[in-house]
Amino acid sequence: MKVYNTLSRQKETLEPIKSGLVTMYSCGPTVYNYAHIGNLRTYVFMDLLRRALRADGYKLKGVMNVTDVGHLMSDADDGEDKMAKAAAEQHKRPEEIAAYYTEIFMRDIARLNIGKPEIVAKATDHIDDMIAYVEALVEKGYGYETSDGIYFDIGKFPEYGKLSRLNLDDQIAGARVEVNTEKRHPADFALWKKAPKEHIMQWPSPWGMGYPGWHIECSTMSRKYLGDVLDIHTGGVDHIPVHHENEIAQSEALVGHKTVDYWMHGEFMLVDGGKMSKSLGNTYTLDQLAERGYEPLDFRYFCLNAHYRKKLNFTFEGLSAAQTAHRRLKTLVAACREANAVTPSDVLEKARADFRQAVDDDLNIPLALGVLWTLLKNPPAKDIYETALAFDKVLGLSLDKAQAAPAPQIDDIPDEIRAIAEERFAARKAKDWAKSDALRDELAARGYAVVDAKDSYTIKKA
Ligand code: AMP
Ligand code: ZN
Repeated sequence: MKVYNTLSRQKETLEPIKSGLVTMYSCGPTVYNYAHIGNLRTYVFMDLLRRALRADGYKLKGVMNVTDVGHLMSDADDGEDKMAKAAAEQHKRPEEIAAYYTEIFMRDIARLNIGKPEIVAKATDHIDDMIAYVEALVEKGYGYETSDGIYFDIGKFPEYGKLSRLNLDDQIAGARVEVNTEKRHPADFALWKKAPKEHIMQWPSPWGMGYPGWHIECSTMSRKYLGDVLDIHTGGVDHIPVHHENEIAQSEALVGHKTVDYWMHGEFMLVDGGKMSKSLGNTYTLDQLAERGYEPLDFRYFCLNAHYRKKLNFTFEGLSAAQTAHRRLKTLVAACREANAVTPSDVLEKARADFRQAVDDDLNIPLALGVLWTLLKNPPAKDIYETALAFDKVLGLSLDKAQAAPAPQIDDIPDEIRAIAEERFAARKAKDWAKSDALRDELAARGYAVVDAKDSYTIKKA
């Protein structure tokens, strides 16, 4: 498989450290609110990648974190902790807020057929590991203490900025006026924050009561579960300039070498061509789509139609079109289930090869979907059904649950009309054309039309 590595800005052939196994870390949700459809797009991407790897025969060891502490209102170190803020606003304990939104997140991803990674790790379950990590960084000279926390000294890490390829001086010039004058460098970031007495989440540490920075959780948990080097790290593109840059700095400072072989990032979802934001009232949840009559898998289909590295503009028009296409796809697949035609083997083989080639080319799922549509242009056949189900291991659209189109509704045809139609059909079989025509006229006079097929007929309201 070829994957686009954000670090090299190139498609590279995936070569896992251990043959046959892919280790993968995915930045998970911050559970202070409902996941919106933009967040969910990023996890659909993660899921497609996992399914594609599995289809290629790899075993997976995936870790996803659940951020329930330390993520401040800005991705840098500004503002309140998102969890603490939500807890204060809703008069709940942060643990209650986290448990509530984690459960809804897990339900949402299940509804989207997004498989849970093998390990799901909560930040607050790893406070001791994070403290040990920060201590090790301080010991190695990468961390220093100020009156409000422990900071990473990016001056000691000259490669800082290599993922985003941002010039540090430009970043600083563009940065807002620095409030924290104790920091050695404006881009130094918090590894650990000292907590004021009233702060709602705090733990004892060598630096007094406090709480971890957001970035340290991913460095700590990825190393704990996946070791010093892992194969693939995923997240949304917004993570590139701060969160992942900081993760790289921490991890490489600690172990002394590269810790991630392939960085992969999902592009953003826009709404009506613009940014999705709560203040604009254009962040939708899966439940809100359901209220408008869209199934979760209609939304998944909508996501599948765009390459993960392309911005995807969400509109209800686009979602409706996806719903229509998704329904048609299911109907076509279901029609193949019991069909006894036989598809030439070269047609099936070409479809399988084209599908795999598309998926293995940096997850070109829109092209792979196109291969399925092309295959379905052939006469319905059980072998096409089986091929579609094999493709669906990657697509994740539950095509095996697709229902055949309902039989045409004839229930509203009154019995006496049916009786006339039956009599006419018998006359027709007996080649009594005069009688057959007379009965057809009678049906027409009563407002019904008969459409003849070779050995059957249908009646319709005229
Ligand atoms: P958060 O819960 O804020 O940490 O975000 C969870 C995931 O959603 C992260 O991987 C973000 O990069 C991603 N994300 C946030 N907004 C969007 C968006 N509009 N489109 C796609 N992904 C997003
Ligand atoms: Zn992360």
